[in-house]
Amino acid sequence: MHIAPPAPSRSLRHQVLNADLTVVGGGLAGVCAAITAARAGSRVVLVQDRPVLGGNASSEVRLWVLGATSHLGNNNRWSREGGVIDELLVENLWRNPEGNPLLFDVLLLEKVRAEPNLTLLLNTAINEVVKDGDAIAAVRGFNPQDSTVYEVRAPLVCDASGDGVVGFLAGAAFRMGAEAREEFHEGLAPDAAYGELLGHTIYFYSKDAGRPITYLPPAFALQDITAIPRWRNIKAGDMGCRFWWFEYGGRHDTVHDTEAIKWELWKVVYGVWDHIKNSGRFPEAANLTLEWVGTIPGKRESRRFEGPVILTQRHVVEATRWEDTVAFGGWSLDLHPADGVYSERPGCNQYHPRRPYGIPLRCLFSRNVPNLLLAGRIISVSHVAFSSTRVMATCAHVGQAAGMAAAHCARLGLRPADLLAPARLRALQDDLLRTGQHLPQQVLRDPADAVASARITASSTFVLDSLPADGGREPLETPRGQWLPLAAGPVPRFTLRVDAPQGGPVQFELRGGRTADDFTPSEVLARVERILPTGLDQAVEVDFGLSLPERRYALLALHGQAGMAVATSTLRVTGLVAVARKGEKAVSSTGAQVAPAGSGVESFEFWTPTRRPAGHNLALTITPPLAAFAPANIADGVDRPTDTVHAWVADPADPTPTLRVDWDTPRTLRTIDLWFDPDFDHPLESVLMGHPERAMPFMVASWQLVDAQGTLLAEGRDQHQARATVTLTTPITTTGLRLRCGANHGRALAAVFALRAH
Ligand SMILES: Cc1cc2nc3c(=O)[nH]c(=O)nc-3n(C[C@H](O)[C@H](O)[C@H](O)COP(=O)(O)OP(=O)(O)OC[C@H]3O[C@@H](n4cnc5c(N)ncnc54)[C@H](O)[C@@H]3O)c2cc1C
Repeated sequence: MHIAPPAPSRSLRHQVLNADLTVVGGGLAGVCAAITAARAGSRVVLVQDRPVLGGNASSEVRLWVLGATSHLGNNNRWSREGGVIDELLVENLWRNPEGNPLLFDVLLLEKVRAEPNLTLLLNTAINEVVKDGDAIAAVRGFNPQDSTVYEVRAPLVCDASGDGVVGFLAGAAFRMGAEAREEFHEGLAPDAAYGELLGHTIYFYSKDAGRPITYLPPAFALQDITAIPRWRNIKAGDMGCRFWWFEYGGRHDTVHDTEAIKWELWKVVYGVWDHIKNSGRFPEAANLTLEWVGTIPGKRESRRFEGPVILTQRHVVEATRWEDTVAFGGWSLDLHPADGVYSERPGCNQYHPRRPYGIPLRCLFSRNVPNLLLAGRIISVSHVAFSSTRVMATCAHVGQAAGMAAAHCARLGLRPADLLAPARLRALQDDLLRTGQHLPQQVLRDPADAVASARITASSTFVLDSLPADGGREPLETPRGQWLPLAAGPVPRFTLRVDAPQGGPVQFELRGGRTADDFTPSEVLARVERILPTGLDQAVEVDFGLSLPERRYALLALHGQAGMAVATSTLRVTGLVAVARKGEKAVSSTGAQVAPAGSGVESFEFWTPTRRPAGHNLALTITPPLAAFAPANIADGVDRPTDTVHAWVADPADPTPTLRVDWDTPRTLRTIDLWFDPDFDHPLESVLMGHPERAMPFMVASWQLVDAQGTLLAEGRDQHQARATVTLTTPITTTGLRLRCGANHGRALAAVFALRAH
């Protein structure tokens, strides 16, 4: 028994931890920063003030994770971010395709706990920073659960806390609010009437109880639903992210007024539920009950810290090429009126860049606190650019870059700014690429990879001479197209199968973006018109008579008449995707972006794919065939389709697709990395929105890796992750490797993006 005599006062338990890196904030930015740094060899302490990880993606807030893929509604093809955030989202799909937010929490906790270099402090709120000169020496925080004050000492700190608590306390330069239009010449910079900050939101979930449920609202619930100008948009069955526009607080101090903002949002939520249950307008809501209401608001915006570079609207729209690109974004410039749910204006104004844009390392560290890295929504961006960089997959991607930068600094005894030296920058970018982080226009150079000097062959290679017409028909009232990886030189002839019950003209176009890897097809490279006679299933051949100066993706597009249809194929192939000139409701209802005069953004059409299980390639034949799927692609340093496929793809008739890597002299190998196709085109919203499959059809479901003598080195079953790493406990010496691919998860061809051996 412990008896405590009276004392003048007491102190809380004080515990000191030492690390190479402290990460403050366990949202997706902090989680990905911490895991990345820990895997790269740093000792990391991750401090999170909540009982679970994920921040706005956690079950406490329940936002779905979005990024450059943008609900499949823009022109960013194959743009899912890659790296740790991809591993998390792909695993969530495998375990939790229905999007249960509790299961996403558990996944994050499991992944963080699995890292031996990572110490996680939950329920610990950092509220003090200890400085040593300009730099941060330690951070301190209190955990009321175990009544302990933690002090974490580390030479590097990554602030991923959303509000930037560390940067604020450390005296880092920051901004809050909106820049005037003149400062960065930003056409989208809002005026005072629109307001300068995005507000907070609280969601609710409802469920059918199977019997009538009565609801009596609390006294603080909103009484008059017409106070919400868009109250007619409320539907009884909607919940969670569908109510993203329940926003409030943009006219307040979004850091210090958060409690007051939360009460206003509770007022809205309980008042809206009263409207749904008791207004008489929703008889279908009789059996519905409130299952969950957020207790902390999701925060959109507060402080943005200044690095040596501030990313602005122009950099987003023009996709500026940076020497120090370490991450990318691709969500729209997405501003909201500060009056939020009470505003008469549209809930958001979204303007998309035509392609993903790079984010430089110089946006990821403070310009005046030398050992402070920034991750998540607080990075060095203008208010307008923030409206795009703020989505969570982008925040996480940035977190990975900050984590890897921290690991490089820790290993070399450097500070973040020192990494700007060209050789160090290249090493940082290569390590990011090596671990799956896609960086636009960057190619991995890895001289230590034994495959770089190997003979690479395969049991078969797909040549695209035809896609069988075994799918349904797609109406040509909506213009449709097929993205194809074309080689430099003469463009082949294409034959499509068209139903023309009344006959009439069809226009065929070959379109492209402004560069080989730009998928906004604004440039018409060639056009051919055909007058079709009346008849179904007509083979229509098109010869554009064009020669391309360089290899590129090009869109074979058809514009037909009402009643016409084009045949499709159910065969899925890595690097091929069909699109239509149409809007995806979540992004654009018109299928085009019309830029207001003087806005500084571009007008263009959206050509978007359809989500699986629909969304099939167009059936076609190509003469001469496309040969873009060669085995050598596995060593080209790019692990997704960009300007070409960058994958080896096997022939559909090959019973055992096998990739062969051979050396003239034996090599000693310890690790082999395999990179499969997790369909980087498909958005992986983490909650609420279900997905039709648990693993991507393009993914090789099982494989075997053997050496030149046929000795089995490793095998994979239920492969669903992009990456499979084979670590050999005893290194092998061999003259070759064979990767035998089993069946895919769906009706698609075996494909491999990379095989790297060290
Ligand atoms: C209503 C709403 C809708 C949105 N819609 C989407 C969407 O659909 N998809 C999307 O991807 N993004 C969306 N966003 C944007 C996105 O959620 C945020 O920009 C993103 O979560 C920022 O990531 P982060 O990791 O920087 O911050 P957060 O996700 O906020 O994580 C920061 C973490 O730090 C913790 N923390 C804070 N202070 C401390 C402290 N002192 N000590 C320790 N820990 C601390 C917080 O508890 C939190 O867990 C939306 C935001 C809101 C609010």
